[in-house]
Amino acid sequence: MAGNEMHVLGLSGGRDSAALAVYMRQHHPDIEIEYFFTDTGKELPEVYEYLGRLEGFLGQRIRKLNPDRDFDFWLKQYNDFLPSAQTRWCTRQLKLRPFEQWVRPLLEEGKKIYSYVAIRGDEEYREGYSSKDKNLIIKLPFKEAGIDKAGVLDILEGAGLGLPHYYSWRTRSGCTFCFFQQKIEWVRLMERHPEAFEEAKAYE
Ligand code: SF4
Repeated sequence: MAGNEMHVLGLSGGRDSAALAVYMRQHHPDIEIEYFFTDTGKELPEVYEYLGRLEGFLGQRIRKLNPDRDFDFWLKQYNDFLPSAQTRWCTRQLKLRPFEQWVRPLLEEGKKIYSYVAIRGDEEYREGYSSKDKNLIIKLPFKEAGIDKAGVLDILEGAGLGLPHYYSWRTRSGCTFCFFQQKIEWVRLMERHPEAFEEAKAYE
C-alpha cells in the first residue's frame, strides 16, 4: 500500500476475476494490489481450493472479507422472503456490504482507492460497480485492453491455473444454494455436495 493510494481487486472465486489477478501481476507488477474475496460462508469447497491455487501463483494471501451478518440473519430481516432475480438482496448484503464496510473507513481517512473489476471486453458494463465516492476509482483493465472470454482462458491456461473445478458442472461461482442456478445445476449439486443440497432444500 503506497502512501495515500491503495489498489484492490475483488475475486469472486470465478474465472474472470482470477484471470484479472494474473493479468495485473504479469502486466503491472509495479502496482501493489490487495486481493480480497467476500466469503458468504456458503461457498463451494472448489472455490476455496481454487483461491488457494491462485494464492500460490500470486505468492500472496487473499484477504477474506466475511459478512458480519450471515444469510440466515438477512433471511429473517426480509421476513423469510428468499432472494429472487427481482429482489436480489443477498448480493447486496453478503457481497457488496462487506466491501463497503472495509473501504469506507479508509476513504474517510482520505485514501484514494483503485478497484480493479473484471468486466471483459465482450461484456456490457454491469450495474453495481459504479462508485459514488470520488476517491473510489473503478478500473476495468480487460475492457480497456479488449480482452474477451477466449483471452481470459488463455491467461489462465498460460499461468498453469486452468479453470476452477466446479466449471465442469456449474456455470457460476457463488453460494451453494444460489437461487439463480439452472435446474440441472441443482441436480449436480445434489450429486456432488448432498449436504449443501439438503441445506438449500430446507430454505425452500
Ligand atoms: S451467489 Fe446467488 S445466492 Fe449467493 S449472493 Fe450471489 S446471487 Fe445471492
